[in-house]
Amino acid sequence: MRILLIEDETELREQIVEALGGKGEIVEAAATGEEGLYMGREYPFDVAVVDLGLPDMEGQEVIGAWREEGRDFPILILTARARWQDKVAGLEAGADDYLVKPFHMEELLARLRALVRRAAGFTQPVWRFGPLTLDTAAQRVEVDGRYVELTAFEYKLLHHLARHAGQVVSKLELTEHLYAQDYDRDSNVIEVLIGRLRRKLDPQGTLKPIETLRGRGYRFALPRDEG
Ligand code: CA
Repeated sequence: MRILLIEDETELREQIVEALGGKGEIVEAAATGEEGLYMGREYPFDVAVVDLGLPDMEGQEVIGAWREEGRDFPILILTARARWQDKVAGLEAGADDYLVKPFHMEELLARLRALVRRAAGFTQPVWRFGPLTLDTAAQRVEVDGRYVELTAFEYKLLHHLARHAGQVVSKLELTEHLYAQDYDRDSNVIEVLIGRLRRKLDPQGTLKPIETLRGRGYRFALPRDEG
């Protein structure tokens, strides 16, 4: 997941970046409402974490501005325990979930994953596409009951494609969801990863889970099971 974090408390911001980064997620952090608002407009994110008490503006103003502009990524708000009115205002401004400080990093991560899953139309953590099963909680992939060992990058790539099953995903979008902003972007890396993923998921070449659409990108082609 690519996560936008707006939090002015330096220590907490760094803790979140480190904790979620350590779980393989990409976190881009802003310390002010203005900077975060800009990042949410300019870059693609799967989910945003917004502290409500920011130095330059209220978190709910940031959320309200994004929602007015039609930005529909899920948003989780962070709030201090004493300020329950803010929580209500944040949810009314368009946030989807909240956490009260202090919280456990595991809970934050679990909530963010659930928000992203639901935004993609999945209610269960285990996604089934015929013979292919993706357990997004355990980050485990099976094909025909056979465990497929993937690297962290390969898993993230598959997860992003499967989340957009049936849709074309461009190479640029994949790069942005795989690497942090300052990473030296090389689209050949995506081609290599896609090739490896195909060989691991489909060694016989009979399943064809990932299609290449020349000049446009890739599409996860296996239909999703009902439910
Ligand atoms: Ca704050």
